[in-house]
Amino acid sequence: MARIVMKFGGTSVADLDRIRNAAKRVKAEYDQGHEIAVAVSAMAGETNRLVDFVTNANKLHDAREYDVVVSSGEQVTSGLMALTLQEMGLPARSWLAWQIPIQTDDVHGKARIQAIETENMIERFADRQIAVVAGFQGISPDRRVTTLGRGGSDTSAVALAAALEADRCDIYTDVDGVYTSDPRIVTKARKLDRITYEEMLEMASQGAKVLQTRSVELAMKAGVRLQVLSSFREEPGTLVVDEDEIVEHQIVSGIAYSRDEAKISLSGVSDKPGVAAGIFGPLSEANVNVDMIVQSMAADGQRTDMTFTVGKADFDRAMEVLNGVKDDVGCNDVLSDQNVVKISVIGVGMRSHAGVAQVMFRTLAEKGINIQVISTSEIKISVLVAEEYTELALRALHTAYGLDTD
Ligand code: ADP
Ligand code: ASP
Ligand code: MG
Repeated sequence: MARIVMKFGGTSVADLDRIRNAAKRVKAEYDQGHEIAVAVSAMAGETNRLVDFVTNANKLHDAREYDVVVSSGEQVTSGLMALTLQEMGLPARSWLAWQIPIQTDDVHGKARIQAIETENMIERFADRQIAVVAGFQGISPDRRVTTLGRGGSDTSAVALAAALEADRCDIYTDVDGVYTSDPRIVTKARKLDRITYEEMLEMASQGAKVLQTRSVELAMKAGVRLQVLSSFREEPGTLVVDEDEIVEHQIVSGIAYSRDEAKISLSGVSDKPGVAAGIFGPLSEANVNVDMIVQSMAADGQRTDMTFTVGKADFDRAMEVLNGVKDDVGCNDVLSDQNVVKISVIGVGMRSHAGVAQVMFRTLAEKGINIQVISTSEIKISVLVAEEYTELALRALHTAYGLDTD
């Protein structure tokens, strides 16, 4: 007997037929004698619809009320999933986050889970009851509803698995695993049988939406056995594992992209100590995360250009801050471009192999794609290019690193 958390994403619970299909997968595990907690997302498209309501009602909305509205999609699917399981003769009940509770901090819109009470749920497992948990939600210290950031049901599931000390956390979605690149764009992408936590973390944080970044972080820290698999096809998915569980290492295991960034350039900035602090300090105080940064050489030894990227969601706030500090850092002009994409090549093999960056630069050059900004980490190289080249760049790089399926 095992204890399993099964998470179903938006497309897997998009209507009653899909919910029934997901419930059948739950039944199959339950019938083997396992203890089951199911975590559900809202129906596909529902959270976007709710976000639109909020922004149309009030552009400068109160984040606490945003959470009340956007968390509601998961309330509906948790109830419907429990009802469907009951209809199949299985004892099931729904749990909203406040009923468990799933305690979070009070950062509305992207709250972090702090603790999950599991005693009650575990007692009911002993009576063979299935727990159906509304994903994406939490409750803050002052008992207000919170949400965990877009894609947050993955994190609900992993946190639940950690708290329940579950044997497995299975993430059921509309693809049958983690691929070398987004299979919707790169048709020759290959499914990976296994990927390391570290690579999955890098893939997710560089834009591969198949798992929310925080869910991978948490799985890695808590040692949760994580699997991504299809809710529509009964096939093994991708296991996220420790590095020593992978026998054959590829140098590059995946290519991710993110259209969520915007580029900002400050031209003619004074080339003197304290200028970077004068720009990035105020941005960080305004909670704007800066990702890639490049500073060009001062032609005259006095003035440089500073270029960096911020999340599109933070763009307006960043521009406001920069227009405020512009004169202090002696900058002539603040330029911006939102039509950019960040493409990242990821692989733990990069630690021990040189030349990975060179393949990237050469491949993009051969396709006539100009690189605007570069950043690297131990297991990743990212470049910023014009958005119109997204597909071309992804496919060319996928081929260049030998990742294409035959
Ligand atoms: P869910 O609603 O089940 O949470 P998501 O839409 O959040 O599903 O995530 C699944 C999607 O992630 C896939 O449909 C796919 O287009 C996208 N994706 C991006 N990169 C990858 C990748 N490397 N491997 C698999 N899927 C990816
Ligand atoms: N429904 C939420 C969203 O669309 C959470 C999730 O699906 O993981 O972001
Ligand atoms: Mg998702």
